[in-house]
Amino acid sequence: MKNWGAEFKRESIKSFTQSLTSHAQMITLPHKNNYLSLDPTYKDDYGRPLLRVTYDITDHDRAAYDFIGERIAEIMEEMGATEVVRSELPEHFDIYPPHNDHIVGGVIVGADSSNSVVNNYCQMWEEENVFVIGGSLFPHNGGYNPTGTVGAFAYRAAEGIDSYLDDNRILVEDATTATAN
Ligand SMILES: Cc1cc2nc3c(=O)[nH]c(=O)nc-3n(C[C@H](O)[C@H](O)[C@H](O)COP(=O)(O)OP(=O)(O)OC[C@H]3O[C@@H](n4cnc5c(N)ncnc54)[C@H](O)[C@@H]3O)c2cc1C
Repeated sequence: MKNWGAEFKRESIKSFTQSLTSHAQMITLPHKNNYLSLDPTYKDDYGRPLLRVTYDITDHDRAAYDFIGERIAEIMEEMGATEVVRSELPEHFDIYPPHNDHIVGGVIVGADSSNSVVNNYCQMWEEENVFVIGGSLFPHNGGYNPTGTVGAFAYRAAEGIDSYLDDNRILVEDATTATAN
């Protein structure tokens, strides 16, 4: 159909109340090509390097996108859709156009200082008086909205800080050290 003229106008008016959009919010698995590093060029007001995010769509992301897209199209067709239009992933990830990005990770929570930065009280293994709160604690984006978990971590960190103030110690035994002993 032409995208101008009387037919276009008639079909646009008809479709306006008979169309819908459906999308899926998916998991993003960790990948060695996606990481944080210190920017070699850009610095803050104190001359310290800014954090640089290196991130792109992986083959797994594309496969999952295609799989879920096909399922959504099937559902639409079962619902009686006469036309299903699927959007395509771009060649590379871009923050524009804006969407509800759930970019997380960088200060991963864990049981072991060899592969995590903070313990389950959000307390840094290497600096006991530093507690970190936020989406940076996640090992990866689990697909669901992250803010509830970020809030839960805030309560957990508050509990940890309260406990830490009693005797200024690391609150969890490091699994790396425990294994070594
Ligand atoms: C468009 C959009 C829609 C979203 N919708 C949802 C949703 O519906 N549900 C959901 O659960 N999640 C949603 N998210 C994700 C959610 O917003 C984030 O996961 C969450 O805000 C992360 O919280 P945070 O505390 O880790 O980081 P942020 O909320 O980004 O907080 C970081 C703070 O640190 C400050 N800061 C940065 N650098 C410095 C510095 N050098 N010194 C001092 N302060 C600094 C920033 O100004 C900011 O206030 C959405 C995200 C986007 C972008």
